[in-house]
Amino acid sequence: MVGLGGSGLAAIERLVGAGVDVVGIDSGLIAGGATGANGGFLLAGTSAFFDETAEVLGPERASAIYGMTVDAIDRIAGDRPRTGSLRIAEPPEELESCRRHLETLGDAGFGAEWYRGPEGEGLLIPDDTTYNPMATARETAERVLAAGVRLHENTAAVEVAPGRVETGRGTIEADLVIVAVDGLLGPLVPAVADRARPTRLQMLATDPVGRTITERAVYLRWGLEYYQQLPDGRIAIGGFRDVEGDGAWTTDTDTTPEVQSRLEDFVRDRLGVTAPVSHRWAATVSFSDGILPVCETVSPGLSVAGAYNGTGNVIGRLCGEALADQYLAGGSTWLDLLRG
Ligand SMILES: Cc1cc2nc3c(=O)[nH]c(=O)nc-3n(C[C@H](O)[C@H](O)[C@H](O)COP(=O)(O)OP(=O)(O)OC[C@H]3O[C@@H](n4cnc5c(N)ncnc54)[C@H](O)[C@@H]3O)c2cc1C
Repeated sequence: MVGLGGSGLAAIERLVGAGVDVVGIDSGLIAGGATGANGGFLLAGTSAFFDETAEVLGPERASAIYGMTVDAIDRIAGDRPRTGSLRIAEPPEELESCRRHLETLGDAGFGAEWYRGPEGEGLLIPDDTTYNPMATARETAERVLAAGVRLHENTAAVEVAPGRVETGRGTIEADLVIVAVDGLLGPLVPAVADRARPTRLQMLATDPVGRTITERAVYLRWGLEYYQQLPDGRIAIGGFRDVEGDGAWTTDTDTTPEVQSRLEDFVRDRLGVTAPVSHRWAATVSFSDGILPVCETVSPGLSVAGAYNGTGNVIGRLCGEALADQYLAGGSTWLDLLRG
C-alpha cells in the first residue's frame, strides 16, 4: 500500500480483515497528507450536487452511489451524532440550484429540507455530518498495526510498477500494489496523470470562539467555501481556491496571502468572529476530469485511487475498500457503479 491517508488505511483494514499480509508506506506521516489537513466534512454523493450527478450519470446510478456514500458516512461516523450539512445559497443566484437539488434528493427518497437560519438560506442535508479525519485515520492505523500490518512512515515510493515499489532504499514486491496518494497520484502514476491533476486547498482555524456560530458543516458559493465550528469552539474554514487562478494547480503546500486574507475576511465580516487566527495551512488533492474519481486497475498488480475533487473523506474510503474487495473477491459494487 502506497499512501497512508484515509483511503489507503481503509484498503488496508479491509485486506487485513481477510487475512492478507500487507505492508504500507507513506512518504510522510500517517494521515500527514490531505487526510490530516481537511475540513472534516462527511458529505454524501459525488463531488457534484445530487441533481447534477443524476443528470450526468442517470438517476439510478446517482442514487446507488449516493446510497453507498450514506452507508459509508454511517460507518465512519459510528455512534457520533449526525449534525447534517447546510448548503447555503450564496450568491442568491444559487437559490434556484438549491431548490433543484432539494427536489431531486426528495424524488430519490433521500433526506433534505429547506433551511433558513443564522447561516443563511438553503438546503439542510441530515445524512451528512462532520468528524475528525486525522483522529479517525490514526485509530484505523492503530487497529491495523495491532493486527500485524507493517506501516513505514517517511518512506516514499519513487517508482511504482505492477507488483513492485521502489523506495530509493529498497524494493517492495507484492501480488498487488495499491497507490492511494490522492494529491500526488498523477505525478507518481503517469498512466492516470491526465485524470488526476494536483491542486492546492487552503484553510485556517481560529482560537476557540465562546459562542455557537454553527452546529453544522456549512458550505456556500457552490461549495467553494466551507466551514464548521470544532468541538472546542474554533472555526475551521477553507476555500477561495479560485482566487489563485491557475496558481492553485500546484503541489506546493505553502499558504498564500491572497487566499488567507479572503478566508480571514470571511471569518471577520461574515461570521462576526474576532478570535485570533491560530493555524493556517494548505494541502494537495487532485481533481479528476469529471465528477467521479480515478479508482481502477492500471495493469494487473497495480491499482490506483485518488482524484476525489476535494471530497475524498467518504469517496476515498469507498475507493480504498473497493480496490481491496476487487483483490479479495474479484469485483466490487462500488467499482461497478463508477464504471457505469
Ligand atoms: C484543505 C482541504 C480541505 C478538505 N476538506 C474536505 C472535506 O471537508 N471533506 C472531504 O470529503 N474531503 C475534503 N478534502 C479532501 C480530502 O482531504 C482528500 O480527498 C482525502 O483526504 C484523500 O485521502 P487519501 O488517503 O486518498 O489521500 P491523503 O490523505 O493525501 O493521503 C495520501 C498519503 O500519501 C502519501 N504520499 C504521497 N506521495 C507518496 C509517495 N510517493 N510515496 C509514499 N507516500 C506518498 C502522503 O504523504 C499522504 O499521507 C479536503 C482537502 C483539503 C486539502
